[in-house]
Amino acid sequence: MEAPDVEIRRSLRRRRTVTAFRENGRIVVCLPSRLSKAEERRWVQVMLDRLAAQEKRRRPSDEALLARAGDLSRKHLGGRAVPSSVRWSSTQRARWGSCTPSDGSIRLSSRLQGLPTWVIDYVLVHELAHLLVNDHGPEFWALVGAYPRAERARGFLDGYSHAAGAAPAGEDDESAEDNESDEDGSSPDASGDEGDAA
Ligand SMILES: [Zn+2]
Repeated sequence: MEAPDVEIRRSLRRRRTVTAFRENGRIVVCLPSRLSKAEERRWVQVMLDRLAAQEKRRRPSDEALLARAGDLSRKHLGGRAVPSSVRWSSTQRARWGSCTPSDGSIRLSSRLQGLPTWVIDYVLVHELAHLLVNDHGPEFWALVGAYPRAERARGFLDGYSHAAGAAPAGEDDESAEDNESDEDGSSPDASGDEGDAA
């Protein structure tokens, strides 16, 4: 494993709390200014380990994703949606997820890696619901609405796309879904068995 690029920021105002986060490709560790050099080394290691554990949780393996999807289906969809596989996909730039109802496979965009777990869970629930209902009609949204943070997650993803400049509005399926006038129901689901995006 290559050594991470770490920046240490000491703060006079900071008394007890130690924090660490990523910023522009490096890891920033904020420490109280009174710590000794030895304490500093110890705390930096503690915080790097914590950050790594947190990021691992947010970037689950395909097996973990499948187990997660099964849990979500049982919890919110009465276990009716049964995915056969869930995989990360790096080829989906404009979609957060997609599924193939005929074989039960679900793919999630690797752009979701590192986003909060409740947001990834929403995309999973969205695709699970598509295993049951192919379009974006009322029946579909009633299913998705069983996930308590569905609305917040949609807002999060919408804002995230725009902030990242990931896709112009209208090409991103999620923002398209927010325009009541869009092509939901007519396009992408009808174009074969590729269900569409979260
Ligand atoms: Zn959809």
